[in-house]
Amino acid sequence: MNVRGPVLEVDDPKSVETSHGTSQLAEVVIRPERGAASPTTVTLWGKWTETVEYLAVGMELLATDLDERTFDGDTQYSTTGESAVVVEPDFLVDVTDIRGWVQCPRMYYLNKLTGLPLKYPVLKGTVVHEVFGDLLRGRDLESSIESRVAEAALDIGLLGETADAVADDVRQNAAAIQGWLQQGRFGEDSWRSEQTLISERFGIKGRADAVRRGMPVELKTGKNLKRSPRFQDKVQAACYGLLLADDIADPPDTGTLLYTKNSALDRSEESGDLSPAKEFSIGPGFLKYVLRVRNEIAAAEYDMSVPTGFEADANCDYCFEQDTCMVVSGRLDQESKAGQLGEPLPEPERAYFERLYRAIEEERREVHAEYRKLWEQSAAERADDDRALVDLDPLGREPLDGGRWALSARRTSDAVSKIREGDRVLASDGHPTQGTAELATVRHLDDEIVVVADEPFELRRIDVYPSELGVDRQLTALHDAVLRGDPDRKDVLFGRREPSFVGDHRPIIDNNESQNEAVNRALAAEDFALIHGPPGTGKTYTLAQTVQALVARGDRVLLSAFTNRAVDNAIEALEAQGFTDVLRWGSESGVRDDMQSYRFDRTGDPRERAAALRDAQVVAATTAACGSRALKQQQFDVAVIDEAGQLTEPGTFLATNRADRFVLVGDHEQLPPVVRAENDLQTSLFEQLIDDYPDAAVMLDRQYRMSQRIQYFASREFYDGQLRPANAEVASQRLADLDGVDVSTLPSALRDAVSFVDPGGSADGNTNPTEADRVADIVSAYLDAGVDPDDIGVIAPFRAQVAELSRRIDEVTVDTVDRFQGSSKEVIIVSFVATGELSSPIFEDYRRVNVALTRAKKALVLVGDATALRSVPFYERMLEWAG
Ligand code: SF4
Repeated sequence: MNVRGPVLEVDDPKSVETSHGTSQLAEVVIRPERGAASPTTVTLWGKWTETVEYLAVGMELLATDLDERTFDGDTQYSTTGESAVVVEPDFLVDVTDIRGWVQCPRMYYLNKLTGLPLKYPVLKGTVVHEVFGDLLRGRDLESSIESRVAEAALDIGLLGETADAVADDVRQNAAAIQGWLQQGRFGEDSWRSEQTLISERFGIKGRADAVRRGMPVELKTGKNLKRSPRFQDKVQAACYGLLLADDIADPPDTGTLLYTKNSALDRSEESGDLSPAKEFSIGPGFLKYVLRVRNEIAAAEYDMSVPTGFEADANCDYCFEQDTCMVVSGRLDQESKAGQLGEPLPEPERAYFERLYRAIEEERREVHAEYRKLWEQSAAERADDDRALVDLDPLGREPLDGGRWALSARRTSDAVSKIREGDRVLASDGHPTQGTAELATVRHLDDEIVVVADEPFELRRIDVYPSELGVDRQLTALHDAVLRGDPDRKDVLFGRREPSFVGDHRPIIDNNESQNEAVNRALAAEDFALIHGPPGTGKTYTLAQTVQALVARGDRVLLSAFTNRAVDNAIEALEAQGFTDVLRWGSESGVRDDMQSYRFDRTGDPRERAAALRDAQVVAATTAACGSRALKQQQFDVAVIDEAGQLTEPGTFLATNRADRFVLVGDHEQLPPVVRAENDLQTSLFEQLIDDYPDAAVMLDRQYRMSQRIQYFASREFYDGQLRPANAEVASQRLADLDGVDVSTLPSALRDAVSFVDPGGSADGNTNPTEADRVADIVSAYLDAGVDPDDIGVIAPFRAQVAELSRRIDEVTVDTVDRFQGSSKEVIIVSFVATGELSSPIFEDYRRVNVALTRAKKALVLVGDATALRSVPFYERMLEWAG
């Protein structure tokens, strides 16, 4: 019997006499069925009583294989020898975090704040693991080492190492792996390399190095001369055992640790057990211990408590993190077993750090809620939510170089999803957690789908894989900005002084005063400058001019943006201005085809690659990439960051931390930062600084996109009426100006530059089929009038309506607002979908409407239910304007 629900009451443990002697028990009252049933008492026995030390009211508790008894009409439950107790089971704790926690809980916290720096042991560990995977997949050792070392060329160069030295080191470590394989242990064994494992039952996730006959094998690049594996390594392997077990009472019985450095040691100089492979028994008792450690982490994450180190028996004198630990304790005035170093940060900075830390951790919880949906939602629900492509028809599998596989399948429906080429997804033979599933990369996405995975299987489904990388990087960026940040910059960010500007004003752009002012402000900034670019105002052009002007005076520039698309657009603008000395950092799938020539190849000669990066005058990368280990080593004079209105504050720090000064470019009246939780991350640093220091900002006030009639509403509602057409030609443009267009064939309702159409019908969830029919008719009318399909765009607030429209409309781009940001069309048709009332929260953020309405140059058609739109003053004003 399993019971699960929120905790209502937690009693202290007590000792009782039983027929087996003195035992400990603790009673916990929970409301089963996730809070839907009447409260019931679960008695925890023995070691499970430790759980109540950190269990708190409100947390979710799962207890499995319970003994059920009825007493005085009440049903009560007790743990048995087979039971597992799981705190906050929906929070998937990573295996490496459990390993870190047993060394010292504070180390787990510090690892979250500081991330893994680029250091030789980390680099070597990565390469050896990759070679291990290759060998298990049957690849030749030398070709594996050669290609893996070549792939790591940049990191090797940045660390001042040579390819030959790293290859030798890896070769020595790989000897242990080869020797082990050659001992015939693998012989007829069934094994898998690098298996992604998720346990919805125990709330753990991880990626095992290898699984042999259902038993975990872990690789360690250090040495161990003892007979048995290190304790924390056993914990890690046991976690994988838990992930592989269906039941805590029936785990895989053996774990293997492979200490690769052992084989590189000289037998005449070393004493002890030099054999690399060390096995240990995974008993249920050890698994329960591992689960209790996992529970401590889940509980600490629930209340966001900060570990002190006193929870562990760790010896701080031998801890590699001691300096960091003491500095963090000192700066944040935290209690720590290692003690404190340095002065605490001023109170406002500490309060800011704690506020943003909580916000990022809330965001992390939302990512975990996404994991939960992998098993809570049915395949159909996930497909409806655009989180999966299901019911794929497997087409086959092909072996690739390096032992990987290309798996292909055909779609059996026209369903849309969030998945894009280049994404990391969970590919499976039917279910992402219960079937065979692998982390895979989408290589091709059309009617036919191709993914690249480590193992071959029949591809029947791909799911969005929730990644914590974004929150991890934001947290380290917050730490670096506040705890390690330049005090002078923090004085401005925390309002202790005004930003300063020095230098002469000079003509750089001679035909647009505000653009010229913006570039000059950026050049004069000693701290930062803000360029506010409403739609169509030449924001990207101005940004490119700014980059050029900075480079011309000798600055090294980091050019960054929230999305790959914006980074590529900025390079395109630079190219159009004749500037091509740009190094584009990004993956092949992330960079636009026509920008591939700028893409930095990290493979090759290490010294030369490192020099090429260090010497680049302009490095262009997304803000997320700025948090990568290699770019974190780079320092710039100025960071110029586009789409700054869409970045959270820590997301902006990812780029600003890398430079002495920064220029933020964006529009806080368009799409806000992309966050899942409702908290302090929703306001961008750009918006914050514009509010605090309006004089540091320049608004580009001449727009080159929309006719006067179209731009009027946005200008009045969002830009205090300051937005103007750049010239008479822009202001007076009409559809009839387009070659081959005959507006006389258009229905009279569509002849005005802005029109409103109420098609009747009613919304069905996030779709409105009647409205979709009408939008399709309107598109046809424009096509019949001679408008090129490429000149028309259709925008809908929901992906479901995008799918509905796509079934009726060919040739013409149909998408959500988010996908249209940054682009424009001669004709834009907006489908509002809702009828009766505007109940979806999507209608509450008027900035999305601003984006939708300002994509149109010459004609804008609003299609929706007048009653619903009139129910909110903003939309009522919009209808009045549309006439
Ligand atoms: S210095 Fe001490 S308290 Fe800090 S992480 Fe290391 S062992 Fe833990």
